[in-house]
Amino acid sequence: MTPAADALPPTPWRPFASRALTYVSITSLALVAVGWWMASGAATAGHEVAGLNLAVAGLVLLGAASASWLIAGSRAVARRQAHLVQSARALRGSPTAEAADDVPRATVALADGRHVHRPGCQFVAGKPTVPASASHGGRPACPVCLG
Ligand SMILES: [Zn+2]
Repeated sequence: MTPAADALPPTPWRPFASRALTYVSITSLALVAVGWWMASGAATAGHEVAGLNLAVAGLVLLGAASASWLIAGSRAVARRQAHLVQSARALRGSPTAEAADDVPRATVALADGRHVHRPGCQFVAGKPTVPASASHGGRPACPVCLG
């Protein structure tokens, strides 16, 4: 993996965020259960309001925590995509890549991969690769680094 890619977290969520969602979910579901228990023991509809309010608060808390977690993940994925696009543009626009256009390029592929890549491509960075033949062994060229 490139040094810049190392700066990005390996998953969209940091471990704390996933743990926090778990704790908030447990708390929210406990609020719903307690609210249901309070409402179920009430003799009149007027006495059910407190339990109902507690259950609704639990659901709102669960929804807010889940939405926050999903938004954080979506933003992390967007950052990763922007990084990949920037890396691909840097690969395409680098002077060494342009100077090497006349020379056959070394290409690599993942053992079970569908495409062949330049050795610096983000899609193969940090993964075990094998040299790909000049004909690419029938595999298409990576649209990002060789496209
Ligand atoms: Zn590639």
